[in-house]
Amino acid sequence: MRPQIYVLSRPSFTDDFARFLRSEQQSWVQTQSTPAEKLIEFAGRICYMSFGQNQSSKTNLEYILNLITQGHESVLEHVCWTFLLTGITRALPHQLVRHRPGFAFSQLSQQYHDETAATFIAPESLETAPQALAAWTESIESARRAYQLIVSQMLAKGNASKEAMRSIRSAARSVLPNATETKIVVTANARAIRHLFNVRGSIEGDLEMRRVCSIIYGAVVPDAPHVFADFKLTANADETPNVVKM
Ligand SMILES: Cc1cc2nc3c(=O)[nH]c(=O)nc-3n(C[C@H](O)[C@H](O)[C@H](O)COP(=O)(O)OP(=O)(O)OC[C@H]3O[C@@H](n4cnc5c(N)ncnc54)[C@H](O)[C@@H]3O)c2cc1C
Repeated sequence: MRPQIYVLSRPSFTDDFARFLRSEQQSWVQTQSTPAEKLIEFAGRICYMSFGQNQSSKTNLEYILNLITQGHESVLEHVCWTFLLTGITRALPHQLVRHRPGFAFSQLSQQYHDETAATFIAPESLETAPQALAAWTESIESARRAYQLIVSQMLAKGNASKEAMRSIRSAARSVLPNATETKIVVTANARAIRHLFNVRGSIEGDLEMRRVCSIIYGAVVPDAPHVFADFKLTANADETPNVVKM
């Protein structure tokens, strides 16, 4: 099983900016850009009211790269995406949720959700190590049996109220491994995503995170190529992906 991404919301930019410009008797010459990129440029231009005669000849790409070079990156925070990530281990969000500003998370609960039929995701590195994979599989099956046994034994005591079930699942989940599949909705702004790529996109020994960064890269770049123009998707010798800063 590989990480999957579902893009639940994308950045947009309405025509209401034109009403504002009319009210100020201002004009704005736009160059080739997506709605996300227009929103960033517009927000940046508001800082200096650099419309009409005050507008420089920079293209949208040049404008955004200049914001980044100058460290004026708060302007990138106006552009957000919401993703659903599935097919990831529970280990991955432990790392992802360490990222604070610019992120919001909603993850599958193991207290409310019955994990009896949970999927377990084997590390890709074990695919070429049959004995290690056998040990992993044995351990997973043992954890699954223990989970089911704990739930059934505690249910046999009779109390299945909402809080009793939370307590039962809390006890049972304690035997589940990091390999347990989870799902998480992630909202993130462009600045936060750039930071994620910077610190997590190409860590050689963290293939799952590299795969997640690469599918996020694949989701955001069509919406805002100029915002991520200084990153690129590359492949290692084993054809696994990296998101690297150029
Ligand atoms: C290779 C690697 C190994 C790691 N190993 C460990 C580990 O062993 N144990 C562990 O606990 N964590 C570990 N981490 C997590 C790491 O310490 C960070 O918690 C995580 O990567 C989030 O980074 P961040 O704080 O830069 O990001 P974010 O929370 O996304 O913050 C973005 C930026 O905002 C600013 N910022 C955010 N919050 C504050 C604040 N409170 N005060 C001032 N500035 C702020 C900083 O400039 C920060 O870089 C590791 C991370 C990496 C990439």
